[in-house]
Amino acid sequence: MPFIGCHVSVENGLEKAPARGHELDCDAIQIFTSNQMQWKGIPVSPETAEKFSAERNLHQITVVVAHDSYLINLASPDAVKLALSRKAFIEEIQRSQALQIPYIVFHPGSHMGEGVDYALRKIAGSLDYVIEQTPECHSMLLLEITAGQGTNVGNTFEELRKIIEYSVHPERLGVCFDTCHAFAAGYDLSATEKYHETFARFDDIIGLDRLKCFHLNDSKKPLGSRIDRHANLGEGLMGWEVFKRIVRDERFAALPMILETPGGDENFAKEIAALKNALINNEV
Ligand SMILES: [Zn+2]
Ligand SMILES: [Zn+2]
Repeated sequence: MPFIGCHVSVENGLEKAPARGHELDCDAIQIFTSNQMQWKGIPVSPETAEKFSAERNLHQITVVVAHDSYLINLASPDAVKLALSRKAFIEEIQRSQALQIPYIVFHPGSHMGEGVDYALRKIAGSLDYVIEQTPECHSMLLLEITAGQGTNVGNTFEELRKIIEYSVHPERLGVCFDTCHAFAAGYDLSATEKYHETFARFDDIIGLDRLKCFHLNDSKKPLGSRIDRHANLGEGLMGWEVFKRIVRDERFAALPMILETPGGDENFAKEIAALKNALINNEV
C-alpha cells in the first residue's frame, strides 16, 4: 500500500506537524522545514528533533518529505542569488538530516534567459556542491517535474535525466512526479493507454527506480498548457480515474503520495479518505 497524505502546516513548531497529519489520516506528510518565503532558515534544535521524532512515531507517520523554499534557484545566473540558493539548500539538507527526513523535494530551477542546457549543468553543479558540503547528511534530493512555466526547467523526462547524468552524485538523486505538473508539461495520463505510455517513457528515460514520491494534484489547465494550477482530484481536467489508477498501481505501492490540492484540511481529509477507499475497494 502506498503511503497517502498531504502537505501539512508547521505553524507553532515543526513538532506539531505529525499530529496534524494524523488528524487527516495521513500515512505520509510533506512539510516546509522553515519559512518557504524567507532566505533565513533556523537550524533545528536537538530538543525539536527529539520531539518531532517522538510525535512522528506516536502518530504513525511512516514517511516525511520536506519541500524546499520557493526562493531557491539552483540554476541562477546571478552569482549572489546562486550563492544564497546553495546556502539555503545546504541548510535545508541539514534540517532534514536533524529531523531524519529521507526525501527533499525541490524545483530544479529557472534558466532566466541563459538557456536550458546552461541551467541543467548549473543545477547539477549546485547539487554536487551542496552534497559535498554536507557529508554527514543522507536525505535523497528529489527533482520535481515542473509544468515548464516561464524559464523553469525540468518539464521533460529528458531534462531530469540530464541533470542526474551531469551530477557526480547520482546515487543521491531521485524524482518526484507531480501529476498536475506532468499533465501541464504535456504528459497525458488520462486514458489507460496514455497512462501506460507515460510511465513506460519515464522508465525508459529516467528509470522507475528513481521515482521516490508522487504529488497527487488534478490540473485546472489543459494538457501541455505549461501552466501550474492545482485542482481537487476529479474536479480538474485529468479526472478521478488517473488517481485511482496510481494508488492501485503495484509499481508504486511503497511510495509516499502527497496531496497539494486546494481547499485546506477539510478537503485533504476528504481526498485522503477517497484515495484509501479506492485502494481497499475494487469498485470502478
Ligand atoms: Zn508538487
Ligand atoms: Zn505545482
